Amino acid sequence: LRWARTRRSLSTGVRSISLPRFIDRVLDATAPALGALDRTALVARLDATCVTLTAGERVVEGPRRAGFLLAANLAARLYPSISLSGPDSLAREAKAEIMLINPHASVGVSDERAPFSLAFDSPGENGAAVNVCARGWNVYVDDIPDNDHSPTAPAAMLAAVLGISELFRVVFAEELGLRGRRGRQPGAFNIVTLGEPTFDLPAPNSVDLGPLTLVGAGAIGQATALTLAEAGATGIARIVDHEEVALSNLQRYVLTYDGDVGTSKVDLLRDRLGKFALKVVPIQTRFHTDLVEDQVPTLVALDSPQDRIGVQASLPGPIYNAWTQPADVGWSRHEAFGEAPCLACLYWPSQKRRSRHEEVAAAFRQHPLRALAYLVHRGIPVGLPLPPGSIPILPGVLVPPQAGRWMQVPLIEDIALAAGVSPGQLAGWGNRSLADVYQEGICGGALVGFNVGERAREVLVPLAQQSALAGVMLATQLVIATVPELAAARPVAIEGRFDVLAGLPQVLPRPRARTRECLCADADFLEVYSAKINGVAS
Ligand SMILES: [Zn+2]
Repeated sequence: LRWARTRRSLSTGVRSISLPRFIDRVLDATAPALGALDRTALVARLDATCVTLTAGERVVEGPRRAGFLLAANLAARLYPSISLSGPDSLAREAKAEIMLINPHASVGVSDERAPFSLAFDSPGENGAAVNVCARGWNVYVDDIPDNDHSPTAPAAMLAAVLGISELFRVVFAEELGLRGRRGRQPGAFNIVTLGEPTFDLPAPNSVDLGPLTLVGAGAIGQATALTLAEAGATGIARIVDHEEVALSNLQRYVLTYDGDVGTSKVDLLRDRLGKFALKVVPIQTRFHTDLVEDQVPTLVALDSPQDRIGVQASLPGPIYNAWTQPADVGWSRHEAFGEAPCLACLYWPSQKRRSRHEEVAAAFRQHPLRALAYLVHRGIPVGLPLPPGSIPILPGVLVPPQAGRWMQVPLIEDIALAAGVSPGQLAGWGNRSLADVYQEGICGGALVGFNVGERAREVLVPLAQQSALAGVMLATQLVIATVPELAAARPVAIEGRFDVLAGLPQVLPRPRARTRECLCADADFLEVYSAKINGVAS
């Protein structure tokens, strides 16, 4: 809390009336893409920007309605001022959704077109900057086909995400440089085959998923659960997450509203999805091996490579995975342990792991011995210099000449120096131990707005549309796998990627090989797995 207050007063000064309470997180998320704009300038830009969302006349119910509401939902997580046009009841519903996300938002219902306008499933709408729609399992940007095929829910929701992604490229075209969008950029693809649009695939209105486990009820997990529910899925979804909703989560958690801060994430999902056929069983805990009893499909929406390896090591049934990273969004399927690449293959460390003090030191760009001294002597806060004699003696490690400085200058000052920020901006951390600053600041993401080192790059805050795209594709993979004709139409490659800042066309399927030293090459793991799938107690 102290941190958030400090940063707001420093970076954004006065807060506008319509900006959301989670504006600081918005600034963290947009910083990597919009580096040219400093935080104050971005706040001013957002404050002055109004986007228009237009729904076509067919957007009334079913997947189309779900798609448009998702577009409004995502828009509300960035733009404080939104104009809606389309069928009355839908516009009212979208407005209500926006106000739940940002009660300060300024929402108008009008036929006027702002320069920043997104038309959703509105063939013939030529004035909009971006046009999107879905037909069957196909998604279209700009070239909208005028036919009567109904969209599937996953395709309609993906179309919404693509629309919001393209709108972002229009609004910030200048700052994005070559990645900005300055005119029409048409493209289309089929979300099953990841190739050209086709109508040769079954498009069931509902699908029985049976029992499944969703690990992670964060940004990706929420979009996943919502997509499954809107797809008319039946079955029992055990959703595993130990956390509660934080204010910063609202920047990209599609099922989370302003009033939800402090609620258990899994309970929230059960409540929000209560009106759907999919039954949610909330399990508020960290994922652990004992949760895996049967070989049921497991959807992985976790943050860290270590946690993902942990899920694979518990040897559940088929695994579907999705992630966000600075360059793009990815999704993958892992159905044949020991044959195709497993989930751990994607995250297996390629080099010898660094020890903890080396990791901490690298994150803050400090000498490993200096970090080790603060980690060993936990009582020394980062706001004080090291006392004489506190530098550990390690065999074969020389104490460098600059160690004299370590006993005169507090570590926090050199961390600030290395990060290019003023020491005052880190003042709130001065009485904390290095272990705490690393845990909360780097792993927890509290320091993510500052360029404090390499670990920080891994925990960059994704844009709302990135997490939503990952979640929609995670859910889509399971739906596809459940319908044999769809499963047969998937690309051979088990992995797909999409860059929300690049527009269409993009090459989506990515080849992936197994990792030689991975646990899926380990005889013990293979034996246990074989016993599991043959129903033999191990
Ligand atoms: Zn593997």
